[in-house]
Amino acid sequence: MLTVGIAMLQGARHEHMHSVLKAAENLEIPIEIRELRKAVDIEGIDAIILPGGESTAMKIASRSEDLFKGLWELIRNSETPVLGTCAGAILLAQQELITTPIVRNAFGRQKESFQSKIRINFDGEDEFMGVFIRAPRFTEGSNYPIAWYQDEVVGVQEGNIMALTFHPELTEDYRFHEWLLNKAREN
Ligand code: GLN
Repeated sequence: MLTVGIAMLQGARHEHMHSVLKAAENLEIPIEIRELRKAVDIEGIDAIILPGGESTAMKIASRSEDLFKGLWELIRNSETPVLGTCAGAILLAQQELITTPIVRNAFGRQKESFQSKIRINFDGEDEFMGVFIRAPRFTEGSNYPIAWYQDEVVGVQEGNIMALTFHPELTEDYRFHEWLLNKAREN
C-alpha cells in the first residue's frame, strides 16, 4: 500500500486526488491518500503532490503549522517522488529543490490562461493537453526538460522531482500521476 500525501493548503487539491486515484486504478497499485495539513501528517508518506493555487497564499496558509518546513526537509533528504504543478513548481524552485529557475505569472495578459497541445517526453515522445492558468515560466529553459509548449520548456524532471507549469489534474490523462506512483513503487 502506497501513501500519497497531497498538500491541502489551497488550490486544485481535489482534482489531484481524483487523478491519482485513477492512476492507481490503471496501474493496479493500492494507495491511500493522506491530506497534508500539519507537519505530523508527513510521517510515512511514499509520494508527494504539491498542487497549484496561489503560491503566496499557500505559504501564508502553512506558516503556523510548519508543514512546508517538514516537507522540504523530507524532499531534500529522501528519494520520495514529488509532483509539483504550477504554484507547486514555484515553491520547489524557490526552495532550490530544483535547479531550473522559474518566473511567476510570466505569460502576458492575452495568454494568462490557455489550453494547448504540448509535447512531453519522460516515458517516450508524446502529446499532452497543457492547461495553463496564470502559469509561471521556465524563462531560462532547463537542463532537465520533459515537456514543451512550442519550443518553450514547461515541465522538468530533476531526479525524483517533477515540476510542471501546467495542470495535468485538470485533464483526464493520468500519465503524470502514474509516473509518481511508479516512482514511489520503485523506492
Ligand atoms: N499564479 C500563481 C502563483 O504565482 C500560480 C498559478 C497556478 O498555480 N495556477 O502562485
